[in-house]
Amino acid sequence: MEQLKLNNGQMIPQLGLGVFKVQDADDLKSAVAEALKDGYRHFDTATIYHNEEWLGEALAESDVKREELFITSKVWNSNTTYDETIAAFHESLKKLQTDYLDLYLIHWPSEGYNEKWRAMESLYNDGLIKSIGVSNFEKPHMEKLLTTAKIKPAVDQVETHPYFQQKELNDYLKSLDIAHEAWGPLGQGKSNVLEDPVLVKIAEAHDKTVAQVILRWHLQRDIIVIPKSVHAERIAQNIDVFDFNLTDEEMSMIASIDKNQRGSGDPNDEEFLKG
Ligand code: NAD
Repeated sequence: MEQLKLNNGQMIPQLGLGVFKVQDADDLKSAVAEALKDGYRHFDTATIYHNEEWLGEALAESDVKREELFITSKVWNSNTTYDETIAAFHESLKKLQTDYLDLYLIHWPSEGYNEKWRAMESLYNDGLIKSIGVSNFEKPHMEKLLTTAKIKPAVDQVETHPYFQQKELNDYLKSLDIAHEAWGPLGQGKSNVLEDPVLVKIAEAHDKTVAQVILRWHLQRDIIVIPKSVHAERIAQNIDVFDFNLTDEEMSMIASIDKNQRGSGDPNDEEFLKG
């Protein structure tokens, strides 16, 4: 598994399993067992997914050592203060049956995020989180955060896929040495990106699936990916992306199909952030 070095020196497996919308304990446990068997070590959850407890159980049942795992969770919008953030973090730790997190993110740039960040810095300084980061932060949110932050975020997890490539944000994050992590890397099964003719052609040329080509494209942009699936075959397929390379021409062809089309959740929509 390829690893990326974050701006604080910590390593992150560049591909992990996302578990958003997995609302059944058995589905989640079998997906995690399958993923571990296939070599996944990185798992991405959030308080709002209401499945941290099952992920904790699934990981506890495996014989993979804690230090080999990379676990991410996120603090939800309803926790707006310093104290609420600290309490939410400890609740997540308990549910995940661990005494530290590898990565903890502010889920959305909702009310009070500078104050939430101060709490995350304190947890980081206490050694309870290896790396702290943000999610759904665009340039103005990041600039506001950096006016008070003592520690720069290690990661920004944002919607990114071939129809919403986030080129400007990617450049901005690179200039700050903040890792770009893609959520919805496959377009969340919502758009028809998996049938895109340019991607189909490239997939055929490599004898790979379109999903594999998309994941490979992210990896070659130095982006961290956390595709979600609960199906054994797809879980195996999504990690089988380290044995081929897209050419510069193929990377340019994919760059040209961007539609700047967001799939869900606009971090600039104040009403949505209250949700
Ligand atoms: P995704 O792009 O990973 O799409 C998942 C869907 O793609 C699956 O439900 C399935 O329908 C399809 N799929 C998966 N593998 C496939 C394959 N090999 N072939 C064909 N179809 C396949 O979308 P996602 O789950 O929304 O995003 C991934 C992860 O990102 C989430 O599980 C979650 O951990 C995280 N996430 C974070 C935020 C955030 O606000 N930070 C928001 C959404 C998701």
